[in-house]
Amino acid sequence: MKQELQEKQGHKWLQNDTLIAILLGILGALLYGATVFHYGYFQDMQRGENGRVAIQMLDQMRRPFFRLKKAEALLSQSTDEASAISGVKSAIYEGRQLLLRYLKLANYNEELQENLMQLKLSYEAWVSLELDLVNKKTALATDPYNHKRHDEYDHKGHDEYDALVQKNSTAFLTVMDELAHGEKPLHYDIKAGALAVRGLIVSTLVFAVFLIGLIFWQVWSNARRTKRHYETVLQLSHLSHTDSLTGLPNRIMFDDRFSVAIAGARRYDHCVGVLYLDIDKFKEVNDKMGHQAGDFVLRKVALRLQKHIRESDTAARVGGDEFVVLLTNLQNKADARIAADKIQIVLNKPFGLNGEQYAPRVSIGIAVFPYDGEDTKQLLHHADSAMYEAKQTAKFRPAP
Ligand code: GH3
Ligand code: MG
Repeated sequence: MKQELQEKQGHKWLQNDTLIAILLGILGALLYGATVFHYGYFQDMQRGENGRVAIQMLDQMRRPFFRLKKAEALLSQSTDEASAISGVKSAIYEGRQLLLRYLKLANYNEELQENLMQLKLSYEAWVSLELDLVNKKTALATDPYNHKRHDEYDHKGHDEYDALVQKNSTAFLTVMDELAHGEKPLHYDIKAGALAVRGLIVSTLVFAVFLIGLIFWQVWSNARRTKRHYETVLQLSHLSHTDSLTGLPNRIMFDDRFSVAIAGARRYDHCVGVLYLDIDKFKEVNDKMGHQAGDFVLRKVALRLQKHIRESDTAARVGGDEFVVLLTNLQNKADARIAADKIQIVLNKPFGLNGEQYAPRVSIGIAVFPYDGEDTKQLLHHADSAMYEAKQTAKFRPAP
């Protein structure tokens, strides 16, 4: 039975599938981590983000340049010099700020950083001229009678300044263009970032599907194990209450039903009968025709008993060739006798056994609650004794 139980529940290591699932989960997590680490998804995503911001800033760099150009043009022909000067100054300031931010951002890419340093240098060269011009203009504005300065300014003249400014701003533009060429690796960075995002999504999805699969497997195998367990418990419970040869209830189940029937009879003022049956000369069947024929007879008797008693009554096998029948809801003692006679007739019908006709005879002892006993023990004892008496009479009875 123990072996049967083990077979039904599966081997021990199979029952440990929760442990297997946990180990697989850890393995999956390690593989996932190794993939993310190996392909450097997070670094590439950061690279892509930096590239994206760098491109944006490069675009922004053009803005102060044009603003400065415009402010510079305004300054040269301005009627409102003060506002033109402050325009130039704020454009220069904006450019510087952008460059500083850009430099800070570019620290992940050496090439970009070098280019930016160049851009910064050319920017400073250019704007220093602008500032020079602005300072002179400011000085003239505050001291219009400073002829020396005026002359100096006039002497150098607009054209020379313009040429210088032009030269430096062109230099700045050239560096800017070079930097624009340098945008190519930035695009690579952005592409790598996008690929990393895709890779990370795919790996995460694969890992998630794997985990969900594991969880489903766990739930399914748990449900299967629980089902098997209950089936085994049911089967064991059935086996422990049933006679394996005939399929009839065994003594345990009979006793239980008998007690319940007596309790009911006590409450509703009924009678309960119990018939104790023992097949006459059953040994002879075994001896003459073999054990298998004996088994056949036992099964046949069980079948006939089951078939010819009421559904509310119970027939059970309680020993080798001994059966008991529980008769519930009887009106009186005579009802039990009627049932016993009916059973005797039914059982006595001949049937083929190993090519011969065999008509089983049984000795039946009857006990009825409340006349022959108060409880199951007394009643069964009474029925057994009555059966014994009947058997003795039968022994002296001539064969039918
Ligand atoms: P009696 O008329 O006094 O009842 O005698 P009997 O020959 O019927 O013998 P008894 O009732 O004393 O013994 C019953 C026999 O039933 C004993 C045993 O060999 C046999 N037996 C018990 N269990 C089984 C079984 O499961 N299968 C078979 N084939 N025979 C069994
Ligand atoms: Mg017998």
